[in-house]
Amino acid sequence: MAKILDGKAISAEIRAELKSRVSELKEQGIVPGLGVLLVGDDPASRSYVTAKERACKEAGIYSKEIKLPATASHTEILQVVEDFNIDPQINGILVQLPLPDSSMEQSVIETILPEKDVDGFHPLNVGRMMLGLPAFLPCTPHGVLQILKRSGIEVSGAHVVVIGRSNIVGRPLVNLLSQKTELGNATVTMCHTRTKNMKELTLQADIVVAATGRPRTVTADMVKEGVVVIDVGVNRIPDETKKSGFRLVGDVDFDAVSEKAAAITPVPGGVGPMTITMLLANTVESAVRSHGAE
Ligand code: NAP
Repeated sequence: MAKILDGKAISAEIRAELKSRVSELKEQGIVPGLGVLLVGDDPASRSYVTAKERACKEAGIYSKEIKLPATASHTEILQVVEDFNIDPQINGILVQLPLPDSSMEQSVIETILPEKDVDGFHPLNVGRMMLGLPAFLPCTPHGVLQILKRSGIEVSGAHVVVIGRSNIVGRPLVNLLSQKTELGNATVTMCHTRTKNMKELTLQADIVVAATGRPRTVTADMVKEGVVVIDVGVNRIPDETKKSGFRLVGDVDFDAVSEKAAAITPVPGGVGPMTITMLLANTVESAVRSHGAE
């Protein structure tokens, strides 16, 4: 039976470190601040924003939420970002994605000052990350790296198969895992919907990362004994036994795969809490940089 890689516990450890860092900063008169913009009333986005704000509060980080209706214009959305850009209390800006009109997303991301881009989505941060220069790392890939590191899983020299090639998860993860750094040095294969022989590839993997948004993308016949499995997926599936009428599952057939794996992240309680934690870490880092603090 696989060891459970408890993202909640690892998150709690990092959040405790951040909390004491925030207390030290407060003694120097520095209060890290996160500006959050939520457009529309998608329940999943609403609950992510609530969780992020609660996490800020617990860590001692100031947060300011602006909520706009789904009908908000492009100009109104950009104005909120511009206001956060010049607000000295705000060190990090989070625009909850997806926006109701996804065609606005890129221009909104590019309006965020790169030094406040704690999601790590601005092209300048993406480029710096690609080059291995200091940058805000995107939170979910960074969270995955931290789970591996803090669980003592050897990434250097391992064959990692990443399933998914999105700009926010799959591709940055492939880049970071393959860099010549402490958290990298893996041999990485990236799969997507056009990959012809995915099972052949996953069967060779020492570590499989699934980030597809499709339940049961990874089944037990696709992995070797002793594999490490990181499940990034968050999927709602109908469940009449739940009050909400649904439950959350990942992209991995958890029960069957955990019979073969050496270690696996659960959903929920795996990568999810880490994503929020790395957002807090980037916000604190941004405050430190902007004040030139020690
Ligand atoms: P996305 O933009 O929809 O990308 C999904 C990727 O998976 C695409 O590259 C797609 O390939 C690939 N894919 C889909 N089905 C596949 C299959 N059967 N075989 C191989 N590849 C397949 O999704 P995303 O934003 O990266 O998110 C992925 C999942 O992670 C979602 O469930 C999302 O909710 C979750 N997520 C979780 C967190 C967290 O904090 N835990 C954060 C972000 C995202 P093509 O490119 O060929 O279409």
